[in-house]
Amino acid sequence: MEKYVYLFSELDEAEAAVGGDWDEVRGLLGGKGANLADMTRLGIPVPPGFTGTTRACNAYLARGGEFPEGFWEQELAALAALEKATGKKFGDPKNPLLLSCRSGAKRSMPGMMDTVLNLGLNDEITEGVAKSTGDARFAYDLYRRLLHMFGTVVLNIPDHPFDEFLDKRREVAGAKLDADLGAEDWKAVVEAYKGVVRTYSGAEFPSDPREQLRRATEAVFRSWNGKRAMDYRNASGIPHDLGTAVNVQTMVFGNIGEGSATGVCMSRDGNTGLPHLEGDYLEDAQGEDVVAGVRATDPIHVLKERNKKVYAELDTIAKKLEKHYRNMQDMEFTIERGKLWLLQTRDGKRTAEAEVRIAVDQANEGLISREEALRRVTPEQVDIFLHPKLDPKAVQGTKPMATGLAVSPGAAVGQVYFDADIAERMAKEGKAVVLVRPDTKPDDVHGMLAAKGILTSRGGRTSHAALVARQFGKPAVVGVTDMEIDLIERQLQVGDVVLHEGDWLSLDGTRGLVYEGEIPTVMADLDNPALSTLLSWADDVRRLGVRANADYPRDAERARKYGAEGIGLCRTEHMFFETDRLPVVQRMIMAKEAGDQEAALADLLPLQRGDFDGIFRAMDGLPVIIRLIDPPLHEFLPARNELVRDLADLKVRLQHFHTLSEIDGALEEVRTKQRFLDRVDALHEENPMLGTRGVRLGINIPGLVKMQVRAIFEAACQCKKDGVDVKPEVMIPLVSHVNELKVIQAMLVDEAKAVMAEQGVEVPYLFGTMIEIPRAAVTAAEIAKVTEFFSFGTNDLTQTTFGISRDDAEQGFLVEYLRQGILARNPFETIDAEGVGKLMEWAVEQGRAARPGLEVGICGEHGGDPTSVHLCHKLGLDYVSCSPFRVPIARLAAAHAALDEKGVA
Ligand code: PEP
Ligand code: MG
Repeated sequence: MEKYVYLFSELDEAEAAVGGDWDEVRGLLGGKGANLADMTRLGIPVPPGFTGTTRACNAYLARGGEFPEGFWEQELAALAALEKATGKKFGDPKNPLLLSCRSGAKRSMPGMMDTVLNLGLNDEITEGVAKSTGDARFAYDLYRRLLHMFGTVVLNIPDHPFDEFLDKRREVAGAKLDADLGAEDWKAVVEAYKGVVRTYSGAEFPSDPREQLRRATEAVFRSWNGKRAMDYRNASGIPHDLGTAVNVQTMVFGNIGEGSATGVCMSRDGNTGLPHLEGDYLEDAQGEDVVAGVRATDPIHVLKERNKKVYAELDTIAKKLEKHYRNMQDMEFTIERGKLWLLQTRDGKRTAEAEVRIAVDQANEGLISREEALRRVTPEQVDIFLHPKLDPKAVQGTKPMATGLAVSPGAAVGQVYFDADIAERMAKEGKAVVLVRPDTKPDDVHGMLAAKGILTSRGGRTSHAALVARQFGKPAVVGVTDMEIDLIERQLQVGDVVLHEGDWLSLDGTRGLVYEGEIPTVMADLDNPALSTLLSWADDVRRLGVRANADYPRDAERARKYGAEGIGLCRTEHMFFETDRLPVVQRMIMAKEAGDQEAALADLLPLQRGDFDGIFRAMDGLPVIIRLIDPPLHEFLPARNELVRDLADLKVRLQHFHTLSEIDGALEEVRTKQRFLDRVDALHEENPMLGTRGVRLGINIPGLVKMQVRAIFEAACQCKKDGVDVKPEVMIPLVSHVNELKVIQAMLVDEAKAVMAEQGVEVPYLFGTMIEIPRAAVTAAEIAKVTEFFSFGTNDLTQTTFGISRDDAEQGFLVEYLRQGILARNPFETIDAEGVGKLMEWAVEQGRAARPGLEVGICGEHGGDPTSVHLCHKLGLDYVSCSPFRVPIARLAAAHAALDEKGVA
């Protein structure tokens, strides 16, 4: 018969049952159960207990809510073993054993599933506890907690009737806090709670401890399929078929008067990554008081002052566990009359900033290898790391309206909403939302995910709000105790400041500050030393080069600072849109006579030369790919409907003019607009993205691309004369047939050579093409014979391979395709490996066969997408090129791809 129940002391058996693999052990016993057993084996003080396996859970659910054969008998046998180990008896009023029953899945799902504490109490046993401890207050406090948890978790009774009775009792007793309530109060609460159970469930609270245990176990198994757990799994990508284990453990009490406490603690600071214990604890309390964030906790360093010995023991255990798991640990502990017990350990959740800092520190300490440090940090975390922060200039001299705990870094600026459902709805309408709550519960997760940031008035660093915010990279400030929230009036108040629903608020989650109004944000700068170190390790490992797409010298400088090894795409037309240039570009387009066009081009030449000069200097020593003009010309002219409307306006106004000069002026304007309109009509194409753009434009107006090449080489020659190491690479866009290149490239190479001859300087250069039309990819061998490099324009290549307009798709049917699963991923975000990727593979092979050593890169948006970076690595590209802000992400993703290839886990 299958073994479904393992004592914490039976880890060797569990390991043997799954073939020794730790990941499988976690799969079987859940993360919490596996670690409790593991801690037991390490000799760390853990209250004795046992784990019912995830297989038992899955079998229970598959049988429609019935334990698999033998399970319950095994649970009872394990219970007998606990009785033996503790010398106590479950159900014995004189010497009662009390148990906790908790869920524990393979992957941590904080607060998402259920727990029942103090199982094993009934009227008689509670009296027994009161007698044996001499503390009736303690005994009845335990009992009311059991009734409340059993009622909500096992019997599905809502919280509010319990809360209402408790509030009422506080009022009667004139107590502000639970701590002010005495034994008689708790006795009264217990009686009221029994009534709640009776009324809501139609039956008495089960007084038989074994029945309590059985039903609590079932509730834990059932909770796997509860809505909260499902939502969390959907949001975190955790598979639904893992099941949860159930952990049954001897209760130890942090609420047994002085010298007792309970808390949570991380082996390093989960917010900054600094190497010291961080956490919160509460004296005379039970575990859920800390996690629920209902009572204000003390930071863990207070324990050091109050009980040096226990603090030192905790610190030693934290270090031991870190060493054992080779990762930062998040521990739950209880101190029962001065004795420390560990109730749980798991890898600690942390901010992206802390993740990077801890990975680098642990590698430097020799605890993990550099490769493991690289593996620890995901490209998404680097992305979170780069989230904007409040503009320091804007906040200088601005007083925050409130301060709280900084639990998840970054800035969030948005409109205040007080309810998760409304927050979600507003976010769907496109509003930036800050969710404000007294505290959050698992039922609020959808609103938290939709919000830009989270603000709560209660809770500590390990509160639900803090954990979820950190995990999903949402800036958050919690525990803003000065803030009063009125959920009925939908407003918050701090001192004199009152904000209503929809008012703007700005959060600094890195410092724990709250500001009134809408404060501008700036991008984080990448000077963080730990990140720089980690990325330098990534550079040592990766094979793919990383370049940036940058159009201006300031972008190029930033890209270089972020680690770009060149420019993979400079879109020259972006410069044409600048206000001082657009009229010149328009003159060039409008020119009727060749002479007019040449004059306009001559005016553009020095402007372009200046642009390139700046970029070459910023990228001294590194290659710079400059792409010749790409978009259809009408994009540089006013929109047709605007011209028609302006002309109509002018005609109406003409009727009211009185002087000849007014009329002359207006007529001249009419003539100009009409000329624009005629030109726009002449240039009109039904499908301009498939029309006269890219290389086709160059063939149509050779003078334009010749001017660009002249500007590139004049700038390059000047830079070279000034001692700058320039490496221009000229790129021709939208090629579909090799003959296009034969015509245009030959002409441009001549122009380049002419400039260098004029200047008396030789610069190394390449002429290459984008591969962004399927025909170019298919005929790559022919094209490579002419051209010296390829760069995949995967934006257009995706558009033309799928036949989906890149400008319209994401607002149209593509969203529906993704929702229905017709496409698994947005192909404009992640390269479609089976289609577009195959074309790329073919082009790389054919191109390199025709021209060994052909330089091949990518400059579409996909160059900064981690999954696409992996594909580019696999296809043997030389580099990826992406927006400067994604360069650090690409560096790390490229390192991961190299580690994958080497088989380094
Ligand atoms: C591309 O098509 O992938 C590309 C980089 O060019 P653009 O986005 O400018 O068309
Ligand atoms: Mg393109």
